[in-house]
Amino acid sequence: MVESSIQQTLVLVKPDGIYRGLIGNVITRFENAGLKIVGMRMRWIDKDFSKRHYSEHLEKTFYYTLEEYITAGPVLAMVLEGVEAVEVVRKIVGSTEPKSAMPGTIRGDFAHINLAHADKTKKAVCNIIHASANSKDAANEIMLWFDPMDLHTYKRAGEEWIR
Ligand code: GDP
Ligand code: MG
Repeated sequence: MVESSIQQTLVLVKPDGIYRGLIGNVITRFENAGLKIVGMRMRWIDKDFSKRHYSEHLEKTFYYTLEEYITAGPVLAMVLEGVEAVEVVRKIVGSTEPKSAMPGTIRGDFAHINLAHADKTKKAVCNIIHASANSKDAANEIMLWFDPMDLHTYKRAGEEWIR
């Protein structure tokens, strides 16, 4: 079997997803697509950790709303594995702006607000989920959130029909 296209990526169910009881819905979509959960933890992060996770956004005008949002409750962090998992997971998650996210995506199905409304009301864009943007970010984010010993190698039943 050629394993070179197998990737791992980081997904977070953000506090709105936790408070709204959407964990099961979110996980089901990834499991249904055949993605394998190789690590999972719940964590309530502080502002310092937010600055590390969202370092690329520190200078953005919306950063303070983002920090307030991501530290407003616990998040569920997971590492998903699959063929070109980084891109596939972003596809399942949908566009950053829920209004633009296609139906069938997590953000398109479970949220609807637009960026302008969030900025006008000085609120975060609550879009349920985070997913690494590319393989370099994925590697860094997995390292930030997980101890290697908490990532597991196992075979899913029927895996030969999935990848
Ligand atoms: P993502 O990779 O699709 O999550 O999007 P980004 O990395 O660009 O942004 C990180 C998070 O910041 C998004 O998921 C939103 O919650 C929030 N965000 C992004 N762009 C904006 C914006 O223009 N205004 C506001 N208020 N929040 C934003
Ligand atoms: Mg991003």
